[in-house]
Amino acid sequence: MSKVTTCWSCKGPLSSAGLFCPTCGAVSAIIESNPFTLFGLPTGFDVDLKALEHRYFSLSRQLHPDRFATKGPQTMMLALQHTASLNDAYATLKDDLNRAIYMLRAQGVTAFDEAGQGKTPPALMATSFELHEQLEDATTPQALQSLLTHVKKQRTACLKNLSDAFAKYDTEAATQATLELKFLTGFEREWHRKNKRIKDSA
Ligand SMILES: [Zn+2]
Repeated sequence: MSKVTTCWSCKGPLSSAGLFCPTCGAVSAIIESNPFTLFGLPTGFDVDLKALEHRYFSLSRQLHPDRFATKGPQTMMLALQHTASLNDAYATLKDDLNRAIYMLRAQGVTAFDEAGQGKTPPALMATSFELHEQLEDATTPQALQSLLTHVKKQRTACLKNLSDAFAKYDTEAATQATLELKFLTGFEREWHRKNKRIKDSA
């Protein structure tokens, strides 16, 4: 997967997976765009979040601007580019929904446009309608809490479906589950807004 080219400083061989030239230690001019490759993690929906976080902080430290302050503008610029791509990759992999959308896009699925919108399947429309009605009707902390418990259970089931679908390369099922996850994520945000309103007015 990782293509090899040469170092801008010493012309030694480079692999896209590393941040630095193994020969001279200069910052690599290859900015890796695949987040799994960047973090050295296997491509898949089930990411080891502890390992991801550990590698993110380790790589961030290696790219800290203080280390490059005296090394010239080329090195400084490349370090900044690596940092930006590292932050993007971390945001993509650590979040279930972002990771699912990234993996679908990598498989050529266009159900999500740039804004992450997708076509809502009829079954999800019905669920959405029902849950929004329940959210509107919930006026006590208890009712709200029980609705949240229900939605969290649905989210757990949805994540399991996503994991299974990606493991089986079932793109259609993965797309459906991603649309559901997107809906549930938005719904939980609305739930928190309403919960805050009720708490503030109590
Ligand atoms: Zn080099």
